[in-house]
Amino acid sequence: MKDVIVIGGGVSGLQAGSFTAKAGEDVLVLDSGESLVLNTSNIQNLIGHDSISGSELLKKGKEKLDEFGGEFKEEEVEKVERTDEGLKVTTSEEEYETEYVIVASAGMHDYLEELDLDFVEGRDDPYLMDEHIDTDEDNKAAENVYAAGLARYWVHQTSFAIGDGTKAAANLLSEKYGEPYQDHDT
Ligand SMILES: Cc1cc2nc3c(=O)[nH]c(=O)nc-3n(C[C@H](O)[C@H](O)[C@H](O)COP(=O)(O)OP(=O)(O)OC[C@H]3O[C@@H](n4cnc5c(N)ncnc54)[C@H](O)[C@@H]3O)c2cc1C
Repeated sequence: MKDVIVIGGGVSGLQAGSFTAKAGEDVLVLDSGESLVLNTSNIQNLIGHDSISGSELLKKGKEKLDEFGGEFKEEEVEKVERTDEGLKVTTSEEEYETEYVIVASAGMHDYLEELDLDFVEGRDDPYLMDEHIDTDEDNKAAENVYAAGLARYWVHQTSFAIGDGTKAAANLLSEKYGEPYQDHDT
């Protein structure tokens, strides 16, 4: 039984996974390897970097997740459903049980059908999504289900996706611990 499964190991998913792993949660990030940021070789709009490519950012994100004890697997999620114990995530390879799910899979949501989530229409743009998961202001979509990045909002910038991954993770942890969660770096 995992504490948190993050579906999507792009920008927002790796950030959400790293943040929850640093808090001591048992975290698994599942990813099908098609992050949109791989289209970008020169991201200049991130503090801390003069410029960074999408592939380098994902590599560093995976290293950060690993550093904090999180696990990354390249597996495509096919189904998420509720069980008596929590949530069951089925991939092309395996089944996993988890207490929480963070959805960070950008525009791909078919596998979420059984959760009966609400969606809002996307914006009309060649690179934007047809729809986004409707969440509350804390990124919560349903009981123990959070969403982050393009999965929940249309802003098409890496910096937004990173911040939104942190927001989803911090709100999940606040709910789980029953008090506002603060991450104290030393
Ligand atoms: C052509 C193009 C150019 C861009 N240029 C810039 C730029 O210059 N600067 C900038 O800041 N941003 C740029 N962006 C935007 C940036 O790529 C996105 O903001 C960012 O990738 C969104 O992060 P995300 O985590 O929401 O989604 P993504 O990074 O796309 O991650 C989603 C992940 O979910 C995975 N996934 C999907 N379905 C499943 C499933 N069923 N099971 C497991 N995994 C799944 C995918 O494989 C993917 O890895 C560009 C995007 C595009 C398309």
